[in-house]
Amino acid sequence: GASASTAHPDLWPQARSRGLVDPATEAFVTELMTRMSLEEKVGQMIQADTSAITPDDLRRYPLGSILSGGSSPPLGRPDRSPGPDWAATVNAFEAVAMEPRTGHTAIPLIFGIDAVHGNNNVVGATLFPHNIALGATRNLDLTRRIGDATAQETAAAGIHWAFGPTLAVPQDDRWGRTYEGYSEDPQLVRAFSGAMVEGLQGKPGLTTIQVGRVAASAKHFLGDGGTTSGVDQGNTELSEAELIATHAPGYPPAINGGVMTIMASFNSWNGQKMHGNRSLLTDVLKGRMGFDGFIVGDWNGHAQVAGCTKTDCAASFNAGLDMAMAPDSWQGLFDTTLAQVRAGTIPMERVDDAVRRILRVKHRLGLFDTARPFADRPGVIGAPAHRAIAREAVRQSLVLLKNDGVLPLRPDAKLLVAGTHADDIGLQSGGWTLSWQGDGNSNADFPNAQSIYAGLAEAVRAGGGSATLSADGSFTDRPDAAIVVFGEMPYAEGRGDVRTLEFEAGDKQSLALLQRLKAAGIPTVSVFLSGRPLWVNPELNQSDAFVAGWLPGSEGGGIADVLIAGPDGAPRHDFRGRLSFSWPKTAGQFTLNVGQDGYDPLFPYDYGLSYAQGGSVPQLAEEAGVDASLANTGVFFARGRVPGPFALQLDDTVTQGAVDSPLLQEGALQLRWRGAGTARITGPELALSRETNGDTALQLQYRMDRVPAGPVQLTLGNGALDVAGLLVAGGWRSLRVPLHCFAP
Ligand code: BGC
Repeated sequence: GASASTAHPDLWPQARSRGLVDPATEAFVTELMTRMSLEEKVGQMIQADTSAITPDDLRRYPLGSILSGGSSPPLGRPDRSPGPDWAATVNAFEAVAMEPRTGHTAIPLIFGIDAVHGNNNVVGATLFPHNIALGATRNLDLTRRIGDATAQETAAAGIHWAFGPTLAVPQDDRWGRTYEGYSEDPQLVRAFSGAMVEGLQGKPGLTTIQVGRVAASAKHFLGDGGTTSGVDQGNTELSEAELIATHAPGYPPAINGGVMTIMASFNSWNGQKMHGNRSLLTDVLKGRMGFDGFIVGDWNGHAQVAGCTKTDCAASFNAGLDMAMAPDSWQGLFDTTLAQVRAGTIPMERVDDAVRRILRVKHRLGLFDTARPFADRPGVIGAPAHRAIAREAVRQSLVLLKNDGVLPLRPDAKLLVAGTHADDIGLQSGGWTLSWQGDGNSNADFPNAQSIYAGLAEAVRAGGGSATLSADGSFTDRPDAAIVVFGEMPYAEGRGDVRTLEFEAGDKQSLALLQRLKAAGIPTVSVFLSGRPLWVNPELNQSDAFVAGWLPGSEGGGIADVLIAGPDGAPRHDFRGRLSFSWPKTAGQFTLNVGQDGYDPLFPYDYGLSYAQGGSVPQLAEEAGVDASLANTGVFFARGRVPGPFALQLDDTVTQGAVDSPLLQEGALQLRWRGAGTARITGPELALSRETNGDTALQLQYRMDRVPAGPVQLTLGNGALDVAGLLVAGGWRSLRVPLHCFAP
């Protein structure tokens, strides 16, 4: 019913908004509005897409904004010559808007685009990892720098406005937009929100935004990540308190940071579409939170409001929408809205409020002072400094889920690089890349980018090794190790919605490739590219190391930086990424979010191994049994330098296990796991062997009477044992290793 979706504003957080309102701007806008016709005011409230409007149309329909969205062809492709470029497109529309004509008030357009991981619609732009990957970095300073670089590359193409950041808090990873969110955790989203708004727009409180900055758009207000079953544009069925606690935290920091626009969401809250929710758009967002920029609609989002169509929706404007995104419906919507204002269906005060907000942003952005025509700023798009930031982001976003010691790889290794995504910049960039869905791209479309294979090849060639690319994993010369890069195919929005979290349901080509490599006895590293955690247990089991690489973007070389060691064999960069989304234990574990009752992930929120903590060098990890009846049998494997004779013992206060191996003496090794209770460990057997390179390999086999739920903490130490520097002399050092018995 209506009351189920009516908010109580005093329950909502307030923002300490520094606000966009400044006296000079308000005086300017007031004066300008006295000169505007009603048609010009209504025109400000409507945005059309470049694919459905010509500059000439603006002479009859004085619209205030243009977007270049998903259905537009990617402009500026080098292979489409002669093709339109961005500056030419923006200038053609702007020329008409600013034309001195009788009866026309010259008002600059605000031109917007989905610059959501860099200025991703422009050929040659730096492509940053998608937000899910930034969440894994936990690095706000880096995020600010990414926002800054994105703003510069967007502004350099003549565009004023980026439709980001996405502040969704995805709660069901089946949602096709999971990767656009920083985290399942509202507090992490909250932290990223302010950082990205500041990166894009600059520090809050400036009267006029600086050159090289753009307006941001926090989106999608509100509850986009909370729809039932993760259905895109679906219904978010939550109490008001839950909506506030989970989905609202990102907005106050964005408003505090002076975010100029907020995009209304496609979803409903308890059955009512957000584009028509007056209590949330007006009473909460503009009232309680003090937002004084403008609310833009989503792509024909107004059409979904009860009783509305694409070309007729007074209810949405009356609910508080200031600018409708009417890509192909602008003409009809303009005519209807004009008539509705004349008839009093939309009050004039509402129109004046919307227009004031839009002009306030345009003035604050400096659009009235910009020299026209806009001239391209060469050297900004794809600038080496921006690519360096993107590469740093790739390195920091990688999450090491498993490593039995194969990583880092030696720089002089003979590598086999295989898998669907190994040498494909489009696939490593995902959706929202040169096209809405991110498909149909080839490496030739990315002049300033490097594939993952190219980055690996560069690293090992510099170290005296070699890399061979083989799509199907076949080889003639036996490689030292294989890196298999595979994952999801690109998608955006609803096309990415799935029914289960099983990776590659029905089509197991990557698994088959991993199995072949394992059968051949080749140490294999999986680099898994995806927009969300997925059930990949079979692939995990077939891999000696497994890296969640997300959707890294144009700088595939960031992966080699972490995987390939330096000349001395030590890692050049450690793994720093930690999961910002929990990793499912089964393909049917849909609502798996940190803090929930019965939380039982495969890899918990915050999980991530590192070299320093024992993610490797040597590596301690668990190998799964392939036989289901052996599900609670494990093998720990450690490899490293052992200076002399040593002894190990399972701590029987923890394990209660039979400890009868002569090697298991003198308390040195403990197994602990989180959660209540202990498991009974029987038959621990240790095997030690000296490897040809002088390392000692240690193998502990055990059997447990139950499978522990969480990650197991393996503690090693007695002062004499130095398993490749894992232990501090005389002390104890903890290693978190996964002890998950992956079902085959
Ligand atoms: C998406 C928005 C996007 C808009 C413009 C919509 O379909 O939901 O996130 O900004 O299109 O392309």
